[in-house]
Amino acid sequence: MPRAGTPWGLFAVIGSWQQAHESGGGAPRYERPADLDAALRRLAEGGWTPLAGGTDLYPAHVGRAVRESLLDLSRLDALRGVRPFGRAEAAGWHIGALTTWSELARAPLERSLAALRQAAREVGGVQIQNQATIGGNLCNASPAADGVPALLALDARVELASVRGRRELPLDAFVLGNRRTAIAPDELLTAVMVPRRSPRARSRFVKLGSRRYLVVSIVMAAAGVDVDENDCVSRCAVAVGACSAAAVRLPAVEAAMSGVPRAALAARLDALSPAEAFAPLAPIDDVRGTAAYRRHAAIELVRRILAELASDEAVGVELGGAR
Ligand SMILES: Cc1cc2nc3c(=O)[nH]c(=O)nc-3n(C[C@H](O)[C@H](O)[C@H](O)COP(=O)(O)OP(=O)(O)OC[C@H]3O[C@@H](n4cnc5c(N)ncnc54)[C@H](O)[C@@H]3O)c2cc1C
Repeated sequence: MPRAGTPWGLFAVIGSWQQAHESGGGAPRYERPADLDAALRRLAEGGWTPLAGGTDLYPAHVGRAVRESLLDLSRLDALRGVRPFGRAEAAGWHIGALTTWSELARAPLERSLAALRQAAREVGGVQIQNQATIGGNLCNASPAADGVPALLALDARVELASVRGRRELPLDAFVLGNRRTAIAPDELLTAVMVPRRSPRARSRFVKLGSRRYLVVSIVMAAAGVDVDENDCVSRCAVAVGACSAAAVRLPAVEAAMSGVPRAALAARLDALSPAEAFAPLAPIDDVRGTAAYRRHAAIELVRRILAELASDEAVGVELGGAR
């Protein structure tokens, strides 16, 4: 069902228009195209800023006018929702860029995508989850964006569209740094694609903040693990967020888990040198925590999710619980 348009968009632009005229500047524009082609044609003109849920864009303007011309995406229903695509090895889930975190938390995703559902439940609070989109989270590219490590651990790809055509990128080639992505000014992020895994695959996401909800992550970690018929690890992906300019995978940890019995995941981590295993992290000191605390917390979070992935019971409890 189509959602109502972004109510903030029009009001913010009217306020900005008045301020721009009072100061003699050009008036920002507001448009709400009816379909993707119309939106891409507008973007190709230049000078438009896409607006999805507005939960990153508007807070970034607190105390100052929105001077950009806003292209409100809220009528683009083709960019909403979760559906399966492809077959066999090439199968996966296609998640429209305008899918909200609430919609994702309710989507009938299989066990291997639990990390994404867990991340969806951790973004802000329920009101934010009802408005904020997965595409906005990735395009905003905050180092603390909860969606990024969860999707990295799931080997997600993004789909970008412009009047020039469509292209796909792995997520780690899309999010390049703090508020930096590979998107071109005339492109929209249209979808996130996540591959299907075997029924034995599992994933987890965990976030450390200074309180339970409505909190910017101090550190978050995610892992995805698949096992063979002997319950030994055939694929392991581990990602950490808020400990570098963009969330990163930990290749040394992943390689060390190959072939390890699932029950021994956490023990194998404990046998690694933390300096080597966590070398890609470059945490900073800020108001939420020191670099040393972040590094320590990252190691502990990864250890905990690997221990949970080793235990069917823990994963089952999480998936069984409704919220
Ligand atoms: C109170 C509060 C709490 C929050 N808590 C969290 C949290 O716990 N974890 C977390 O990760 N985030 C949090 N956020 C940030 C925000 O809610 C999320 O990042 C959200 O997913 C952003 O989505 P949006 O649709 O609102 O993006 P918008 O604000 O609409 O857009 C964000 C940026 O992406 C661009 N953009 C959006 N969609 C597209 C698209 N399809 N193609 C191209 N460009 C696009 C916009 O131009 C803008 O630059 C919080 C925000 C608030 C206000």
